[in-house]
Amino acid sequence: MNFSLMSIDEILRMEENGEVSPRQVWDHFSERRRRWEPEINAFITTVEDLEGNGLAVGVKDNIAVKGLPTTCGSRMLRNYESPYSATAWERLRARGFSLAGKTNLDEFAMGSSTETSFLGPTRNPWDPERTPGGSSGGSAAAVAAGMVKFALGSDTGGSVRQPASFCGVVGFKPTYGRISRFGLVAFASSLDQIGILSTSVRDAAYVFSVVGGDDPRDSTTSRRPVPDFQEIFSSPLDSFTFVYPDEEVLGRAEDEVRREFMEFVKMAEALGGRGKEVSMPLLNYAMEAYYIVANAEASSNLARYDGVRYGLRQEAEDLLQMYMKTRTAGFGDEVKRRILTGGFVLSRGYYEDYYGRAVSYRKQLSAFMEDVFSRADFLLLPTTPHVAFKIGERQDPIEMYMEDFFTVFVNLAGLPAISIPWSLLDGLPIGFQIVSRWYNEIGMLRLAEKMERSIDFKNKLILKEV
Ligand code: GLN
Repeated sequence: MNFSLMSIDEILRMEENGEVSPRQVWDHFSERRRRWEPEINAFITTVEDLEGNGLAVGVKDNIAVKGLPTTCGSRMLRNYESPYSATAWERLRARGFSLAGKTNLDEFAMGSSTETSFLGPTRNPWDPERTPGGSSGGSAAAVAAGMVKFALGSDTGGSVRQPASFCGVVGFKPTYGRISRFGLVAFASSLDQIGILSTSVRDAAYVFSVVGGDDPRDSTTSRRPVPDFQEIFSSPLDSFTFVYPDEEVLGRAEDEVRREFMEFVKMAEALGGRGKEVSMPLLNYAMEAYYIVANAEASSNLARYDGVRYGLRQEAEDLLQMYMKTRTAGFGDEVKRRILTGGFVLSRGYYEDYYGRAVSYRKQLSAFMEDVFSRADFLLLPTTPHVAFKIGERQDPIEMYMEDFFTVFVNLAGLPAISIPWSLLDGLPIGFQIVSRWYNEIGMLRLAEKMERSIDFKNKLILKEV
């Protein structure tokens, strides 16, 4: 039986009825890992103990699992072992899910290609010459190749949705505060959010109902109850309204992606949506604001890796030399770049010009989004400007940052969003985004599932038994 093609709830029902055993389910995914992992490098650590229901899960290696290394893809933490588990993983474990491994990522989740991990790049299973996107590239590749049933990732500026688009899978990021960040290694705390990568919207909804909700160990989690899985799909979405950006914003995507996106819009209309093009000039500054806010917060969050508290330590004559040697040896170039620019935008004399303006932009953006969602239920837009690029192709950091144009504004405003696979362009997947108002994950998942049913996207990688 090909368990990659069945939904989580369907497999669990079959297990309950005794039609399949957890071992059979587990072996299916293990076999696929043996087949794919040597070529793809999706995992940093793999584990092979079946504990519960046989459904194999990938957890991004910046999310803590007790007793296992949490490396964040960094030399700094290469020998660090977590003394506790993240709430999101703890809730999955409590429900019988088994860990297949910790997945590869850009160092400290900073990047869009999974190339900066100290363990080397993850490859895109659709074309191993290309990146799977990032920073949750290991999670996306593992799901796309059927090595796990689903995976947890983190999305600070698009790191769940962008790799989902590049790998032809679903990438779901809830409203800020909906999934506990306890045990997620901090990158930019006001933007960080755990997200889910899966092969269907239905599975994303299932996992969300398990991992989401209030957590006393993360004071930023929302008290609002997370919808029950049955409730999400209990009633259909009949009519709805949506907006999509005009040429000024859409022009950031390649022509072919734009043309395909307009087909996506047409499909939404055919499914009962009333769509309207809207001018969104504010989005043009989201990338700049994001890299100011994210780097400022990162420079503060990463101060803890000083050779004293966690991970690597390089011995030296005195304390200052020890800090310097440790941080020089422990961090890669991109992480250093972010700490330096983050420190700069927060420094006296520049604070108002950079950080202060980014923060006031963020307020404007949220007000604008509030206005958008007072007129329409959803915002549709591309997830990525193009299909997956080649490994090594993006050398210029600014070019790499531009990859996030369509995703970062969502995090700045704390909105929920989902990327679903749409089609193949020259054999490579491309996904599109549905963004919704705060806390309307139910509506967003209903629309995504409705669209998914009408979209003729086949993941040929998981269609084969192994
Ligand atoms: N690519 C973005 C960055 O480099 C987003 C990363 C993320 O969401 N973790 O910051």
